[in-house]
Amino acid sequence: MDKIDALYEYRQYIRIAMLENYDTYFGKLLTNTVDVWLNNPLPPFEASGTSGMKAILNGVLQLTTLDGWVVEAEDKDIGWIFGYRDETNDASNELNLRLDEDADALYDTLEQVVQLYYSTNKTGNVDVNSPWIDKMINAVCEASFFNTYRMVYDYLNRIWEVDKAFATA
Ligand SMILES: *Cc1c(COP(=O)(O)O)cnc(C)c1O
Repeated sequence: MDKIDALYEYRQYIRIAMLENYDTYFGKLLTNTVDVWLNNPLPPFEASGTSGMKAILNGVLQLTTLDGWVVEAEDKDIGWIFGYRDETNDASNELNLRLDEDADALYDTLEQVVQLYYSTNKTGNVDVNSPWIDKMINAVCEASFFNTYRMVYDYLNRIWEVDKAFATA
């Protein structure tokens, strides 16, 4: 809160709302009413990042580090991935935190996001041929993969290998 208060003099440029008591009502409201979902966990500490999966279901573009569920959606063109990536290991590891570099990368990427947003949404006239719209369509398409049914199935067969245990000779 103190950090938000310190930005008060910049309120003309930066609007910050703090939502207390985050619950499923707010979760639902946020994931289907915003244009961009900023997800900036420190790879590889995010277990999942469920809120991003809820957001893509609504065509909300992702501005995210490569962590959690995003590792499986890296090549799907559903937004922007920023920050350090370990070329030898998809999910990175805790020795690879690059906080300053990642912060710079966030601001650089944000410039691209803002430019594309305003070239797509010209004071209410939406350019339906914009790559922004393509990314939204990709997001909704990819959302079907990120469901609980598939997740449980993957746990069963890819981690616990229950299918092998019950395989008939
Ligand atoms: C979606 C949701 C979460 C998970 O949020 P993450 O950003 O994925 O950690 C937690 N709490 C509520 C109430 C939610 O709706």
